[in-house]
Amino acid sequence: MLRLDAVSHRYPGSDVDALEELSLQVPGGTAMGLFAPSGSGKTTLMRIASLSLRPTGGAVTVAGHPVSGVRYAVPRSIRRTMGTVGQSPRAATSPRLSLRRIIAEPLSFADGRRTPHASAYTERIAELADLVQLSPDLLDRLPHQVSDGQLQRACLARALALDPKVLLCDEPTAMLDASTTAVIMRVIAGRAERGAAVLVASHDHAVLGASCHVLRPLGGTE
Ligand code: ADP
Ligand code: MG
Repeated sequence: MLRLDAVSHRYPGSDVDALEELSLQVPGGTAMGLFAPSGSGKTTLMRIASLSLRPTGGAVTVAGHPVSGVRYAVPRSIRRTMGTVGQSPRAATSPRLSLRRIIAEPLSFADGRRTPHASAYTERIAELADLVQLSPDLLDRLPHQVSDGQLQRACLARALALDPKVLLCDEPTAMLDASTTAVIMRVIAGRAERGAAVLVASHDHAVLGASCHVLRPLGGTE
């Protein structure tokens, strides 16, 4: 379960809040869509929820544990239960790692390896690639050799690798065509059927409506 209580954020140097006292709860087994126009604070909220940005106000609770730090200050036991797909797949991947190794990152780190080690996880990587509809021949390519949409699907496969209890996806289908979007949204919402708390941010109501319970806490309009 994921809970945000009155989280706010003001970026340094700004004189307005990018996000103002937002509260929401995503119980396990639920997929929620966060729908609001561009610039309304969705990415800020998703970065706070994924424990990569410290809010300037409010509190984040994951599976009943209040979390105060961000990134590596968050206990590994909590980090491991969370899967995150950021809005920009290029910013979220190392340009020197093949897609296979990108997907292997959480598997490797959970096993105490310091670098992503694909050969130990061949079957799991194949299974994850199939789930997000990445063809096997793409797995040995580097990020600059694939499209944004393909790289974003590798990021989703990576986020799913450890069967997260909390799955956070920021505009996960913005770079995909309509048929791939439908498949990917089913994969994401399907995690809720397996018990995860799922939160998906999008500026596109149609994308969310099909698979998620839609929230409009940021004042979005259609
Ligand atoms: P959304 O994802 O809904 O498009 P964002 O969370 O990216 O919205 O942005 C919310 C607001 O915060 C916008 O006004 C944006 O310009 C501002 N903002 C986002 N990131 C930064 C940053 N790193 N520094 C300063 N302002 C930012
Ligand atoms: Mg955004």
